Amino acid sequence: MVHGLNVSMTSKDVKPANIDIAQTFQIEGLDVRGRLVRLGPALDAILDAHDYPRSVSMMLAETLTLAVTLASALKYEGIFTLQVQGDGPISLLVADITSAGALRGYARFDEQREAAAADAEGAQVPRLLGNGHLAFTVDQGQDMERYQGITELAGATLADCAHNYFRNSEQLGTVIFLRTRLKGEGQNETLCAAVMVQRMPHTKADEGEADDGWRRAVVILASLTAEELLDPKLDNDALLYRLYHEDGVRTYTPQNVLHRCRCSREKVSTTLKSFPRAEITVEDGSAQVVCEFCKATYNFAVVELDALFATKDS
Ligand SMILES: [Zn+2]
Repeated sequence: MVHGLNVSMTSKDVKPANIDIAQTFQIEGLDVRGRLVRLGPALDAILDAHDYPRSVSMMLAETLTLAVTLASALKYEGIFTLQVQGDGPISLLVADITSAGALRGYARFDEQREAAAADAEGAQVPRLLGNGHLAFTVDQGQDMERYQGITELAGATLADCAHNYFRNSEQLGTVIFLRTRLKGEGQNETLCAAVMVQRMPHTKADEGEADDGWRRAVVILASLTAEELLDPKLDNDALLYRLYHEDGVRTYTPQNVLHRCRCSREKVSTTLKSFPRAEITVEDGSAQVVCEFCKATYNFAVVELDALFATKDS
């Protein structure tokens, strides 16, 4: 569904329409398609469940936002997962989003190494993640898990690493502008936002004109400031209009994004059953399983474990 730019909104509508959304847009005159993603409360719901140091929260917020941005450019029914693995202080960042917009994520890190690296000089990715890779997969249910892509961590930021993927693997002109402002230090909530522009097969008669159009889209994107992108009072349509109005920007209905974990007692039971019974630690008469994504705790009393393992195929 397409709607115009001059949508009037009452003040109480502004916030939900602006934040926790993924929005597709098209720059008609330049043969360029784009995505605008702005996340706030959905990120804090995820980060608040953990007690990560700031550098880890920052990297996870960016991983979550990048996941939503990349997923919104794909047509899929199921789960999109972005995983970043490195040999640095942060060893793992995971974000996944369903096609319905349910987002979750977590990080693994070494406390001592993180503390030493947090205030050191140098770009984020080499300093906090080290060598490793960024991979994304799409799981569409019964079908085999389809491997979408993988790229080395070669870049200063996660957005740079994604650029490298598109440059090397897809040969698709893609630029992502991503900025984060964490909660705390005078900020009431976390905001992380991204604009991604992608070159489409062109409709121009002249190749040079198409190249010029793409360059223009990239130059205009570079004029965007973090303040504009992270200003929740600046409406999404107004933001895109400010950038690309001369070239005819068309915006589509945004998709809402919210934090929702997919863990359940049933899924935890299945995982427990896959372990040898002897490896399950029982304390004070029950085994405890904590979801790595949302920190939900599931308790299994010994009698429940007995019942569970009685049905185990062997
Ligand atoms: Zn969970």
